[in-house]
Amino acid sequence: MATVGVLALQGSYNEHIAGIFSSSSFLFIASSISLRRLGVKSVEIRKPEQLLDVASLIIPGGESTTMAKLAELHNLFPSLREFVRMGKPVWGTCAGLIFLANKATGQKTGGQELVGGLDCTVHRNFFGSQLQSFETELSIPELVSTEGGPETFRGVFIRAPAILDVGPEVQVLAHCPVSSNSTLHSNSSGEGKEEKGAEDKVIVAVRQGNLLATAFHPELTSDNRWHSYFLKMAGDVEGSSSSIASIGVDN
Ligand code: GLN
Repeated sequence: MATVGVLALQGSYNEHIAGIFSSSSFLFIASSISLRRLGVKSVEIRKPEQLLDVASLIIPGGESTTMAKLAELHNLFPSLREFVRMGKPVWGTCAGLIFLANKATGQKTGGQELVGGLDCTVHRNFFGSQLQSFETELSIPELVSTEGGPETFRGVFIRAPAILDVGPEVQVLAHCPVSSNSTLHSNSSGEGKEEKGAEDKVIVAVRQGNLLATAFHPELTSDNRWHSYFLKMAGDVEGSSSSIASIGVDN
């Protein structure tokens, strides 16, 4: 199996790779899932040239403005955009979703550089502050039909974004019911609420071709279905993409 790259500038990259929790993690769960536990070779990505050695990429959760500044410092944006443009599989979790979105709104987004490619508008910190982080059971029919297992997936939302709108190519995989948590929409500006109007749910997981994005953190649970789904998706894309193979950067 080809090597999976994990952008390792800041945030929960180690949880994706090795399943070890950093002290900054909001919730402690005894055994998180990781690529290592699934027997998948992964590598930390900090430099543009390292992207040439991986077939797919995970952009972890963390703090997207900090991550963006570090990505700028390491001159990673052009290579990340090229990686997406080439059709290589990329999964963004939480801050990673923000990175992949074509447009970000909400708190302190002015001038924040994005990788883009995912035709959606994402709202940073949609569910409120760090203290308003929460867990909830999500219904994800596509995941269950592909991976089996329990009917729901436990979504860990840490100062999470939500997706406000999506383009026609985007497949919506999961919604989060707004009523499931009393703290939702309590961000001081109330921007999300205005933008969402009277709707009682927001989009929290999507797929657009080679791009997968979740507003929550599967790497902080012991349920491997999202990682497995991404690995299958990466396999599908690798197997069917002659353009990737032909430019010789695939493993
Ligand atoms: N709120 C964070 C941001 O805007 C994302 C949170 C997360 O990745 N857990 O970057």
